[in-house]
Amino acid sequence: MIFEYQLSAKREDFYDITAQVSEAVAKSDVQDGAAVVYCPHTTAGITINEDADPDVVRDLLFALSKTYPDRPEFRHMEGNSAAHLKASVIGSSVTVIIRGGRLLLGTWQGIYFCEFDPPRSRKYYVKILRA
Ligand code: ZN
Repeated sequence: MIFEYQLSAKREDFYDITAQVSEAVAKSDVQDGAAVVYCPHTTAGITINEDADPDVVRDLLFALSKTYPDRPEFRHMEGNSAAHLKASVIGSSVTVIIRGGRLLLGTWQGIYFCEFDPPRSRKYYVKILRA
């Protein structure tokens, strides 16, 4: 069972998609399995991190931009190599265990769609696997 979601990413940010992924799990009625959350873009990614303190995401964005700044040596003619680099570092998917019909996330964990080359109309997929 696969679900497709749209996202309007207006700025470089981490967009919390935990509620949408939980909704896909509920619609699937799968009790034991896994949810694969996948981003089909080359300048965006998917990750899991803290969703309690918004300063965590702020610090991650700050550190990613400091670590992977745009550089004059980059050759890619679209001019967004820093965004491609951040997307590869973050990765394009996560897998979360489903137990008892719910995502087996830690207390402080949320699932994020990570936009690195805004503004963009994006999509992501949630594939629900039955164990
Ligand atoms: Zn590019």
